[in-house]
Amino acid sequence: MGKVVIKNLKKSFGDLEVLKDINLEVCEREVICIIGASGSGKSTLLRCINALEDASSGTVEVDGHDITGAHADINKYRQDIGMVFQQFNLFPHMTVLQNISFAPISLKLKTKEEAQAKAHELLKRVDLEEKANVYPEQLSGGQQQRVAIARALAMEPDVMLFDEPTSALDPEMVGEVLAVMKKLANEGMTMIVVTHEMGFAKEVADRVIFIDEGYIVEQGPPSEIFGNPKNERTINFLNKVL
Ligand code: ADP
Ligand code: MG
Repeated sequence: MGKVVIKNLKKSFGDLEVLKDINLEVCEREVICIIGASGSGKSTLLRCINALEDASSGTVEVDGHDITGAHADINKYRQDIGMVFQQFNLFPHMTVLQNISFAPISLKLKTKEEAQAKAHELLKRVDLEEKANVYPEQLSGGQQQRVAIARALAMEPDVMLFDEPTSALDPEMVGEVLAVMKKLANEGMTMIVVTHEMGFAKEVADRVIFIDEGYIVEQGPPSEIFGNPKNERTINFLNKVL
């Protein structure tokens, strides 16, 4: 589970064509890192994958289910896709445990006891067992982001999307979040990660995708993209960020 197939995806906002013709197959257990300049369409692509945005044309399938079809059950589809944002977006009035168990309980996927047991297990996985009963404001940014990852995992998704998960963090907290993501990757989660952390992309990605002006301009294993980029735009971009 966790195969994503995107065909001829286009997305415009009014006259602004943001995604121009995206074709991408992500295999089960694959880790994809998406890199590219600000405004190139990376967030829009992730938002089309979990149906936060409607595609203008083209198809997006996860495990064979097309979300762009007229009869698509978007809510069911979304349950299979976890998303982690730059801003952690935790519910401020809920404890950590409540944040993690809220969705499975309210969607009646689990009893309260089952959901809380799962939440404790997830807190152990992100190394925050002792924080179950505190509120988000009592946590550091890195801890909040690890809770946000646990919250996404509570829905037992087949695919995890990350949109610059460490960009809002103080530098000393980046490592702890990347370590959790690396563990998840090693456990076989299908992951699509928009990131500026080139070290993470080099070490963890199976494939790196460079997006420029709404197109996938170049893609390949990290050794190729970072070691021997072929496209002039990729080279220019990497020269700026590395
Ligand atoms: P990235 O994540 O690569 O920085 P985005 O996908 O956020 O890029 O944005 C790509 C372009 O689409 C930008 O020009 C942005 O201003 C525009 N855009 C994104 N979302 C909207 C929206 N909801 N309405 C209008 N324009 C948008
Ligand atoms: Mg973005």
